[in-house]
Amino acid sequence: MLKKILLLLLLPLSCFAEVLPKQLAVPGGIVQLPLLEVANPAPVAYFKDKRVMVVKDRGWWVAVIGIPLDAKLGRHKISTKVLGKNMKLPFDIKNKKYPAQYLTIQNKRMVNPNAEDLKKIKADRVKIGKALSVWTEQAELDLDFMAPVDGRLSSRFGLKRFFNKQPRNPHSGLDIAAPTGTAIKSPAAARVIDTGNYYYNGHTVFLDHGQGLLSGYFHMNKISVEPGQLVQQGDVLGTVGSTGRVTGPHLHWNIYLNGTKVDPALFISKDIPRLAARNKTKKKKAKK
Ligand code: ZN
Repeated sequence: MLKKILLLLLLPLSCFAEVLPKQLAVPGGIVQLPLLEVANPAPVAYFKDKRVMVVKDRGWWVAVIGIPLDAKLGRHKISTKVLGKNMKLPFDIKNKKYPAQYLTIQNKRMVNPNAEDLKKIKADRVKIGKALSVWTEQAELDLDFMAPVDGRLSSRFGLKRFFNKQPRNPHSGLDIAAPTGTAIKSPAAARVIDTGNYYYNGHTVFLDHGQGLLSGYFHMNKISVEPGQLVQQGDVLGTVGSTGRVTGPHLHWNIYLNGTKVDPALFISKDIPRLAARNKTKKKKAKK
C-alpha cells in the first residue's frame, strides 16, 4: 500500500518535470511566463502573431518565448486564452551588449557574392524558410539538451559581425570548433526536417524538437541523416566541416523558438564552462 502511495506521489513529478532552457530576458534570449495550473488544459499563446511553446513546469503551464535579437527593449506582451478568456500578459526585455567581432574571409565571393551566387542565395532562402516554418503539436518534449559537438567554444551568439571590415548580420548561433570529421550528435530527441547544401551555411541539417523548437547544424563535412528520420539524443547527424562561409572547421549551431533565433548556450548552460575553457587554452597556445 505504502509503495503504491509513494509511486503515486512520484508519478506527477516525473510527468511534469521539464528541463527548461535558462531564462534570460534580453534580445536573443528566452522568457518563461507561467500561464495556468496544469489541472487545466494547455493554453495556446502567441508572441508577435507567432505560436509560442507551452510546457509543464512545476505544476504550471509555462510559455517559453524566444526573443528576437532585434527586439525593442522594455515592455512586450504575449496573447493567450486562459479559461476561455483572451488575455495579454506583459514581460520586460532588458539590454544586453553583444561585443563586435572582426573576421577575414579569404573567399571574397562569400562576402560580396556575384549575380549567379545571389540566385543560389535566394533559392536557399526559400528552402530554409520552408524548413523553419514547421510547427509540430507535441505534448512531451525533450528539452534536456547536450552540446552537439565536444569541441571548443569559438564564437558566441549575438556578436556584431564584420566580414573583411564590412558590417553584416549579427552572429545568430553558437560556434563550436573541432577538427574536420568530428561527430555532430543530436542534442536531444528530434525529427530531421530537411538537409541541404547552401551558399553560406554549407551542408546543413534542420531538426524539429516539437512546438516550434527547431535546431540547425551548418558547415558540415558529411551528413548521415535523411529528412523524416527520427533521432535520439546522441545519435550522429554527420561530421564537422568547413563548407559554406567559414574561417575554419566548426559547427555553427542555431536554435529557433517561435520563428526566432535564440542563444543556444541557454539550452546547454551546464556544458558552456567546459567548452569555453578549451577556448582559453587554445588562445594561450596561439600566443606562444
Ligand atoms: Zn557561426
